[in-house]
Amino acid sequence: MDNYITLCKPTLSKALLSIGLDKKYFKASGNYLYYRNSQGEEVEVLDLLGGYGATLIGHFHPQIGSRYKDYIEQKVPFHNQFSIREGAGELSTLLNSRLCHETNYRDGFQFCYTSTGAETMEIALKHAEYARSLELNAMQQQLKADYDSLNPQYSYHLLPQQERLLGVSRLASSHVIKQALVRYNTEQFNKHPIFIALENAFHGKMMLTANCTHHPMYRAFLRCLNIETRFLSAHVVNEIVHNIEHHGLWGEALQPEVIDGVIHLKPLIIRRVVAILAEPVQGEGGVWPLNATVAEDLNKLRDSLHCPLIADEVQSGSGRCGMLVAASNIGLNADYYALSKALGAGYVKIGVVAIKKSHIASGFDLIQSSTFGEDDLSCKVARDYLELLFNGDDPLIKRVGKISEQLGKILDQLKNRFPDVIKDVRYQGLLLGIEFNDVAESSSYLMQNIAAQRSLGYIIAGHLLNAYNIRVAPSGSSENVLRFEPSVYLEQRHISLLQRGLERICLGIRYADVGFLLRPIINKGTSSAIQPKDYRLTASGIDKSATPADFSVTFVNHLISAAGLRDVEPSFEGFSDKELEVFLLNTSFNLSTVPFPASRIRNKYGKTVDFIIHPIPVTSQMIAHALEKNNLTQLRAEINQRIDFAMQNGSRVAGLGMFTSIITNNGKSVKNNSITVTTGNALTVGMSIAAVKKAFGQRDLACASLSVIGAAGNIGSVYAEILGAECRTLRLLGSSKQDSLLRLKAVMYNIYAHYYDDFSTGKTYPVGSLAARLADVFNTMQPDIHQQCHTPSVGRCISDYLAEHYPAEMFISISQQIDDVTDSDIIICATNATNSILPLGQLRQKAVVCDIAVPHNVLQDDLIDRPDILLLRGGVVKTPYDDGLDPRIRAYLEGNQLYACMTETILLALEECTEHYSYGNITPEQVENVMQLADKHGFVLEDVKRESSL
Ligand code: PMP
Repeated sequence: MDNYITLCKPTLSKALLSIGLDKKYFKASGNYLYYRNSQGEEVEVLDLLGGYGATLIGHFHPQIGSRYKDYIEQKVPFHNQFSIREGAGELSTLLNSRLCHETNYRDGFQFCYTSTGAETMEIALKHAEYARSLELNAMQQQLKADYDSLNPQYSYHLLPQQERLLGVSRLASSHVIKQALVRYNTEQFNKHPIFIALENAFHGKMMLTANCTHHPMYRAFLRCLNIETRFLSAHVVNEIVHNIEHHGLWGEALQPEVIDGVIHLKPLIIRRVVAILAEPVQGEGGVWPLNATVAEDLNKLRDSLHCPLIADEVQSGSGRCGMLVAASNIGLNADYYALSKALGAGYVKIGVVAIKKSHIASGFDLIQSSTFGEDDLSCKVARDYLELLFNGDDPLIKRVGKISEQLGKILDQLKNRFPDVIKDVRYQGLLLGIEFNDVAESSSYLMQNIAAQRSLGYIIAGHLLNAYNIRVAPSGSSENVLRFEPSVYLEQRHISLLQRGLERICLGIRYADVGFLLRPIINKGTSSAIQPKDYRLTASGIDKSATPADFSVTFVNHLISAAGLRDVEPSFEGFSDKELEVFLLNTSFNLSTVPFPASRIRNKYGKTVDFIIHPIPVTSQMIAHALEKNNLTQLRAEINQRIDFAMQNGSRVAGLGMFTSIITNNGKSVKNNSITVTTGNALTVGMSIAAVKKAFGQRDLACASLSVIGAAGNIGSVYAEILGAECRTLRLLGSSKQDSLLRLKAVMYNIYAHYYDDFSTGKTYPVGSLAARLADVFNTMQPDIHQQCHTPSVGRCISDYLAEHYPAEMFISISQQIDDVTDSDIIICATNATNSILPLGQLRQKAVVCDIAVPHNVLQDDLIDRPDILLLRGGVVKTPYDDGLDPRIRAYLEGNQLYACMTETILLALEECTEHYSYGNITPEQVENVMQLADKHGFVLEDVKRESSL
């Protein structure tokens, strides 16, 4: 595996793989990046991601490149820290004049250099807090001087409100009042600072900047740092501007003032807001250009709060939006401007905070530096870049507007053609975005899951890359917005290519053709010529206007095999099994799904249950693999989430289908006691016993020999006890492990004890059956033996008695040799072995094999040479009114059938059962009980189950 994946970004790499963005680019030039495909051929990719906005003049611009080479040859110093740095001086001169020109500010700026965007913003914020701290220090010093100058003889005149604030009475001594005053004022000065940012803001991923970035994903975990950032919408900014005093944005100290020998206290405002941060065009938040009204409100807010306004131009500046700073476009009159990204011309890492001279806090440049900030090489490259962009008769910057117009027009046209698919198109300069509508309501279940996983934008990016060789990405905090940041050298043919790709994608989304969208990602060689097909289904599931069901239940399951995806998602019809397997494997890092639309099932009295399947998108094989590796944390978490979700959404019972019960230790690892949990194992055993009996047909069960493989396990032992009673003999087979023999004996004793109970209570069995023959033995036993049977070791007693008086194998026998089962008429497989262990070739003619093991112990294909053997998987249940599942999730069922485990989930809801049922080990009594419930509610054995099932 690649070292980047193992050593750097294991999780992200999985995400990239899942959407086909896992390319290794080995070369960049102009508008292109290059990777090699699986045949080793070089693939040229049009780069519209543009280094998150850093490559406004493309990759390795030749003119900048040749200057860069010169600097290297001239050995322009990189590490000449702590000296007078020429490069930074030259660049600052240029930036200063350009900034003064664009912002109409004459006094000039001071510059502090950094290496990245987040660092630039971090330094801007640090400077703002430094300036605030100087301001607060000065105020505190003044207050101290005021206290010191007070004549101790003077008394205070306190207003009632001031008495309350200080917690003293006006009649208290001057000394006491002064102490309270000092304490109160210190508290006011120590109030934590506040940052103001906008909704959808993105300012970087360092501690402070992450805390000022709106998306909770980047900052929620920082809550204990207790840094307060208020995120305001445009509307709230306006609200605050008109109502500034009601928002707790400042502290208020009390300053003593002597009037006629009496000390009065007057309010002294303490600024708490460190700074207001704003991106003139919000890039990562979803390409939201601020408008002039908001800019004006922000200017006013800054004036009212007396704090600096910081324009984060890391993405929008350095020419990307047609100016050095995009703030100039909208009249945002900032005090600090942060630049980075494109300023490095695609060659160097550089950032800079430009601070108006009037806002400089003296001494800051003494406490701020970084090893890589201000290096001559980067500064010279940035200077060359600015000259290339802005100088000359026909400056390059003009191209920004021209290309923006061409590309913007195409996007606007698309929006008009596909209003059902595209929600909005927004752009300024060469920062453009398309917002796609949410697809949560799509008729395609896969599309609904794409919405749940928030991956639509990523899939579109994967499609464009693999089908059209166009590189884009959704914006960082807004996954439905596809962002384009091309270079100024974008050509019409590039725009046409993008247009073609987007048109098809929009059509694919409109048609709910998920297969079309994913095809280039799943099968990397897909040509861009394929067309989407219309897969819009009529609405499935229950009509939303229908009356609510009496109960609802959730059944957690997974795919039997990848092929099942073709049923669930009709647009996957063209994919091979192999392709679907790879798809599921590649997407397994994100397993969120939404519940499948409910199917309504009625009992025989017409009571209704909404049966909701909430699947985990993995195959049995994938789970078996995880089980083998004991790597179950993710899967268990997925199961628990679905059960919590079911409970919160009104399901009464949660059923665990197939492997989900195995990997939760038959439900035991599920810790939710607010919903009834069941594995459905009791009815599975009950119905499969009924199925075996049915399959045995005309033959007399009481003459049949039964072997149970895996009899030491819970299901095997219950099975053995129930079915064994009606067969002639019973053989319990366990593994060759040491403790297996002891466990088999314990099972045997237990079964004898239960049969003895049955005998004692007068329960009868068919003539010739094991239980009936045992009853005959019990009848002939001497009273003293019966006496012994009234002890806890009854089973052992009976076993010893039988061993003494009867030939071996007449009743129940135990074995650890698989060959011993070959002469049985009925063989039950209930082991947890992952491979086939049964010597099929040696089995009796017409043997009935019932394999209820998960994973299966016997595969249908294994029986190719023994067509006489009947292989069953259990029982299929018929619903009373022929209700059934949606055809897309029916797997091997008919429209009026359910599997037994599903049926148990429904029965428990109908019975309003409030305790977990088949949870952990099951008992024969539970099996009997739930079979009676099935009968009561009209769910009957329909057929033997021959196929693998959900
Ligand atoms: N601010 C803004 C507005 C940005 O767009 C970004 C980067 N997307 C940053 C700050 C952080 O820049 P960097 O990734 O270089 O740290």
